[in-house]
Amino acid sequence: MNTPLNLVNVTLEYPDGDGTLKALDSVDLKLNAGEYLSLVGPSGSGKSSLLAVAATLVQPTSGLVIIDGQDATGLKDSELTALRREKIGIIFQQPNLLPSLTAVEQLVISDHLRGKPVRAARKRAAELLDVVGLSASLNKRPHQLSGGQRQRVNIARALMGSPTVLLVDEPTAALDHVRSGAIVRLLRQVTDEFSVATVMVTHDTEFVPLTDSVATMRDGRISAAQPTVAVS
Ligand code: ADP
Ligand code: MG
Repeated sequence: MNTPLNLVNVTLEYPDGDGTLKALDSVDLKLNAGEYLSLVGPSGSGKSSLLAVAATLVQPTSGLVIIDGQDATGLKDSELTALRREKIGIIFQQPNLLPSLTAVEQLVISDHLRGKPVRAARKRAAELLDVVGLSASLNKRPHQLSGGQRQRVNIARALMGSPTVLLVDEPTAALDHVRSGAIVRLLRQVTDEFSVATVMVTHDTEFVPLTDSVATMRDGRISAAQPTVAVS
């Protein structure tokens, strides 16, 4: 089996006045299937940049981005789009749901973009919404859902393409403490159930023990991932 996510010596530079700013500085990161990594570190340390590069949304200045055995650096835009749709699920802080669509439709439309038939998509959408605890809310629109429920729709949507890698940026930043814990636990559950490799950027160090490992970013550099101590 291929390694789901493998970043090798990745550097990302942005122009900064007369010089350059290294948003990512020689980053190595390898994640196995079913592994859930917390990514922590101060604001501006490069966490979102790492997710953007891993999501193949931003090309690194140098280094390799290998998704499920395939090197994404040097691919054409059309090939990158296909790789992203087939291999990568992205969950950001704000769910960005379409206001006029029901929960099921939010998921079906994402599959429609992959060229899949609608009938199969509706069935899978209902199954995934059941997994995230929304079986009673299939036909609700975003304004009829709580913030935590909207984030659950977002998570289910990210799973529609059966991704190998799940990239999650501060999923709990807009939620209260109880709902935050529930979302981190749900991500634990889907990581196990679907054997995805999950990277979660988080400020909530309290929930880090629910994940397998933790890496810290500082000034674009990443520490070696350390195993977390399981809570009893
Ligand atoms: P974090 O998510 O840890 O807060 P970011 O990855 O957003 O950090 O940012 C890392 C560094 O890269 C910061 O100094 C930020 O200002 C800079 N940066 C991020 N995106 C851009 C961009 N599009 N253009 C220029 N600089 C950027
Ligand atoms: Mg960020």
